Amino acid sequence: MDRDLLRETLERRGEPRYRAGQVWAWLARGAGSYAEMTDLPATLRDALERELPLSTLELEREARASDGTVKALLRTARGNPVEAVLMRYRDGRRSLCLSSQSGCPLTCSFCATGRMRFAGNLSADEILDQALHFRRNGELDHAVFMGMGEPMMNLDAVLEACTLLPGLGITNRRTAISTVGWIPGIERLSASGLPIRLALSLHAPEDELRSALMPVNDRYPLAEVLDACRADHAIRRRTVFIEYVMLAGVNDRFEQAVALARLLSPREAFKVNLIPYNPTDSHLQGSGRDAIAGFRTALESRGVPVTVRLTRGREIAAACGQLAAGAAA
Ligand code: SAH
Repeated sequence: MDRDLLRETLERRGEPRYRAGQVWAWLARGAGSYAEMTDLPATLRDALERELPLSTLELEREARASDGTVKALLRTARGNPVEAVLMRYRDGRRSLCLSSQSGCPLTCSFCATGRMRFAGNLSADEILDQALHFRRNGELDHAVFMGMGEPMMNLDAVLEACTLLPGLGITNRRTAISTVGWIPGIERLSASGLPIRLALSLHAPEDELRSALMPVNDRYPLAEVLDACRADHAIRRRTVFIEYVMLAGVNDRFEQAVALARLLSPREAFKVNLIPYNPTDSHLQGSGRDAIAGFRTALESRGVPVTVRLTRGREIAAACGQLAAGAAA
């Protein structure tokens, strides 16, 4: 919903101000048309139906995986592609993976989004419309900014969206922002005081390898990024999740687990999330089950809490790092 246009349209028609709030409340509860908004006058519902699209995004197609994951390919008014994913878990959790940009300006070598054309930042409304799209099909409880783009490079829009997500059932505590380690963004999140989870895509325990995988490391090197995360933990007291994508023969050796464990102090500030690699058109191979298990044990025996990410939606290219709007499929 273009909220500015909603306000203007209502004002032009001489409607009281609270109407905008009524429309928003319906959308946040999953309304898929103005016709459902029964506390608005019928003439107003008809007028809005004619004049104001319900979403800033148009659905181009949707794919469903056998594990219940749904991926939507949406387009902005300018025609830029945006992908969003709904993940359903056995415990009933329904978690959204949201995009903050169309494409991504960064060029991490293992990520499909980094190889598509970067088309720019999304507005707060375009971020919220991804969530509203899935809200029409049921309740939501978690969101992660782990779709296309680098959320910390579009933090105003991301935080604005986060102020409205609770109305859809997604509190800030159940929202995570994942970053390549964009320090100015991490510092602003710390200063915001919001209880949003910070997740850092680390992927390598030393600068040379990290720069090879993630060129942004030349700008914001490992030690400085981890300092920013420690400072954030000291201020907001939320555990920082360290994302580590498991690449066979690249970053999955025992010594690398030891080096990673050494970096993560104080222990209570961090938790590692090992990510099985999802295939893209890069030459990289994911680590096997045993390598991931061994890496996990090496970390755990050094006191580092570890989880291994459940892979969702791989068959529809909806898993981590696969969002490329069909470009790399
Ligand atoms: N730009 C932010 C948000 C994207 S989050 C960031 O990088 O953190 C997407 C997560 O999936 C990141 O941790 C990213 O490094 C990881 N990822 C990228 N490509 C992947 C792939 N092919 N398989 C598994 N994880 C991948």
